Amino acid sequence: MTAARSVLVVGESLAGTTAVRHLRALGHAGPLTLVGAEEQGAYSRPPLSKVVLKDPSADETLGLALDGLDVDVIRSPAVAADTDRRTVTTADGRIGYDALIVATGADARRLAAPGQRGELVLRTLEDARRLRARLADATSAIVVGAGFLGMEVASACAARGIPVTVVDTDRPLERVLGAYLSAEITARAATHGIRFLQASGFATLTGDPVRGVALPDGTELTADLVVTCAGEVPCVDWLEGTGLAGRLGVGIDHACATTVPGVFAAGDVTYLRAQGTQPDRRAPFWSNAVAQGRAAAASALGLPLPGPAHDDYFWTEVTGLSVKVVGRLPLLGEPTAVQGSVADGRALLTWNHADGTSTAVAYGLRKPVAALRALAATSSSD
Ligand SMILES: Cc1cc2nc3c(=O)[nH]c(=O)nc-3n(C[C@H](O)[C@H](O)[C@H](O)COP(=O)(O)OP(=O)(O)OC[C@H]3O[C@@H](n4cnc5c(N)ncnc54)[C@H](O)[C@@H]3O)c2cc1C
Repeated sequence: MTAARSVLVVGESLAGTTAVRHLRALGHAGPLTLVGAEEQGAYSRPPLSKVVLKDPSADETLGLALDGLDVDVIRSPAVAADTDRRTVTTADGRIGYDALIVATGADARRLAAPGQRGELVLRTLEDARRLRARLADATSAIVVGAGFLGMEVASACAARGIPVTVVDTDRPLERVLGAYLSAEITARAATHGIRFLQASGFATLTGDPVRGVALPDGTELTADLVVTCAGEVPCVDWLEGTGLAGRLGVGIDHACATTVPGVFAAGDVTYLRAQGTQPDRRAPFWSNAVAQGRAAAASALGLPLPGPAHDDYFWTEVTGLSVKVVGRLPLLGEPTAVQGSVADGRALLTWNHADGTSTAVAYGLRKPVAALRALAATSSSD
């Protein structure tokens, strides 16, 4: 296959900038355009919930610089795409392409009713700054959603001594990390002033502006601060009419190719299309956005993949304790303790799955990711 003459990347964040960097590294010398929607350019999101909520000086350390690469950056959101004519439209005009990489990520899922004001979410730097300002004088908080983001926001509240209630239908991090680590993390969080309330159904935001939540059993809670951490919604409106996107985002294969010729996709906007017994799967994590950004760049140029287009490394921090995971999720049953103990807050754990693979977890323990990868690989061949 011949190399694409012009490549257009839409979405100026982790997946998009990774793709741009790799397009040039792989030798693409033709026109390269990057379309972004955020004024400040690309930045890293994981620190938003871990550092930025606590420390304003962290705002300046998040950039994902393009290091003087020859790329035409347009900061005007894409509003439409025509995959027959191979064009993307922004408010500034129409851009043609030979290969398109869709990397528009996701927005925070919102729970407010139409017209209900004051819902707080955390997806962008602007969201983090707004939330940080509100944390400064809050005396109570509610977090809706006990996934990794909800628990990180709750940890930021707890670190400021703000009593916080986390509400969800599932126990903290259970959907991702399984029942064993969820129980440990919930108990630890409680000792830091994070109360967990398990709801029998979805919470509704109350007040205008939002001041609380109502649960299906009639329970009503109010607080100074109510933050929704209820997952993300792929940014695909601009792809309407192209057949590229559905509820789960843009479907891709293992080479980040979509079903439309000349169009590839990477990062949080994607889902991996079902294969064999594997169902459609979203994996909106940092390491995946990087792996897919690289793979989409290679595929857009018709080159072999530089490595797998997925990466199952994931990390989070709850009440100052870091949890690093390499391998398949969720984690069912009890682990093997390779080192330390969870009760002491420092452990190296493995889970062996029925399909012969393993997941390695560093719980509160400093461990290089490479060592965790090696542990997961050796445990699975045992
Ligand atoms: C607060 C927070 C903490 C996180 N912590 C972790 C963590 O600890 N570990 C982990 O593995 N992952 C974490 N993640 C997830 C990780 O940040 C994402 O997986 C990663 O940012 C995905 O990168 P992306 O480039 O695919 O999408 P995004 O980062 O969502 O970027 C997409 C970009 O496209 C832009 N865009 C959207 N629509 C358009 C349009 N129409 N035209 C042009 N541009 C558009 C958006 O404005 C955005 O800049 C966290 C995410 C958040 C929000």
